Parts: sequence; structure tokens; C-alpha cells
Amino acid sequence: MKGLIFDIRHYAVHDGPGIRTTVFLKGCPLACRWCHNPESRGTSSEPIVTKRRIGDKVFDENEMVGVRMTPLEVIMEAEKSRLFFDESGGGITFSGGEPLMQSGFLYETLKLCREREMHSAVDTCGLASSDNIQKIAELTDLFLFDIKLMDDQKHIKYTGVSNQVILNNLHLLASMGKKIWLRMPVIPGINDTPDDIRKLMNLLIELYPKVKNLNLLPYHAAAKSKYDRLGLDSSDYVFNQPTPEVMESLKLKLSQTGYAVKIGG
Ligand code: SF4
Repeated sequence: MKGLIFDIRHYAVHDGPGIRTTVFLKGCPLACRWCHNPESRGTSSEPIVTKRRIGDKVFDENEMVGVRMTPLEVIMEAEKSRLFFDESGGGITFSGGEPLMQSGFLYETLKLCREREMHSAVDTCGLASSDNIQKIAELTDLFLFDIKLMDDQKHIKYTGVSNQVILNNLHLLASMGKKIWLRMPVIPGINDTPDDIRKLMNLLIELYPKVKNLNLLPYHAAAKSKYDRLGLDSSDYVFNQPTPEVMESLKLKLSQTGYAVKIGG
């Protein structure tokens, strides 16, 4: 069995505890308008064009995004950072895209993590069947669970799907006693209105103390060139970036729920 991977990054410090190797799996069932990894969304390898300059000549270089790897190949790549994992309390994080889109491959790779006592985290948008979520949860030490918008109509408008299954899965994982860190991208005017924050706080209070960590991820517009290089329309990818003051005030407000709120991953 092979998985489709679009990147592996060593020494990641924002994808769970300690120093980690993050494995990015291709394919995502959402289409978030602020997605900063548009190359992750398709379920097959795809070309991306990079402009190269040699002297006064500029030419296009085509690269393919997405390589097929076995679970063992992925683990052997992560093993290169084992010393850092052991020293820092780190491990491997599966991200994407949405890693549960390749749940068979993910399950087999997580099995190898368990056998090797390698700490595992799964960064998920939460949209998957409850059977898949439960199966993956058996072998996962930590979930990084994305909460994007509490209002379902807005969720559909900005991500293309309802948040109902996502929220059900979040409650399911919490009821299983799984360790969860919530992650929320902050997009000014879209998901930080008083109504959005009130609904979010209600959810946090409902889940507390089974869940008590929340990471706020400020939106940044750095990925625009990726849309162009993939030949995707980037006209929707235009949002305001939150100021440090906005982030601090949100952090202060959400901390009232008892959560450990952190800005950044
Ligand atoms: S869930 Fe993540 S990878 Fe998928 S579209 Fe949204 S931001 Fe992009």
C-alpha cells in the first residue's frame, strides 16, 4: 500500500509538542477560501509551474506535486529525526490536505509509529466517517482538530461543506477521551465577529475540560503565488490579515473559558 504525499518537513515546531516531522498527505474534502496549501487539495499528482531565471532569460519549470510512498518509507524518513523527537518530546504529525482521506494508508503508518513508540499527531479538518475517525483514533496520540466557523451557513459558504459532521466527530473524539488541541484560523470579519466568537465560546465550554487547548492561527496571504503556479483562480483568496492587537484581544477573550490559548501552531 502506498500513500500520496506532497511534502515532508523535518524540525517542525508548530504541529504538536516538541520537534516533529510533518508528513503532508494529498487530498482534502474542503475548499477553504483561505487555504494556504492549495497544492494539497487534489487527490492525484499535479504539475506546478515555477519561474526560473538564468541570466536575462525567464523560463517555466514544471514540477510534479505528490509522490507515492509506503508506510515504511515514511517512517524511515521520520526516523532521521528520532534524536530530536526523544530530546524534545516530539514525534510525527500527519497533516495535509486531510490525512483521513487516505485512512487505510494512515492507519498502517500509525501502526508502525506505535510499534516504534513514536509519538503521533493527526492534523484534521474533521470531515470523515465516524467509523474512520474511531479507527484512526485507536492509534493516534494527539489530534490537532481544526475549527473554522461555527455558523453552518457561513461554513458552507467559505469551505464548501457543512460543519455538522465535523462537530459530531469532534464530540465523538472528546467522548473517547482522546487528547485534542483545537486550531482555528483567524480571518478578520469572517470568523471573528461577536456572534462567531460567542458560538465558539459555547463550544469550548461544552468540551471543557476534556479539551482545553486552543491554538489561534492568524491568516496570512503568503500563498497567493501558489495559486498562480497551480493555474488556480486566486481572486477569492483575498482576506485581511489580523493585527497582533486583534490576536491578543481574541486570545484574552477566549482564555476566559479556562482554555490554554496560544497564538500560532
Ligand atoms: S481543510 Fe486545510 S487543506 Fe483543506 S481546503 Fe481547508 S485549509 Fe486547505
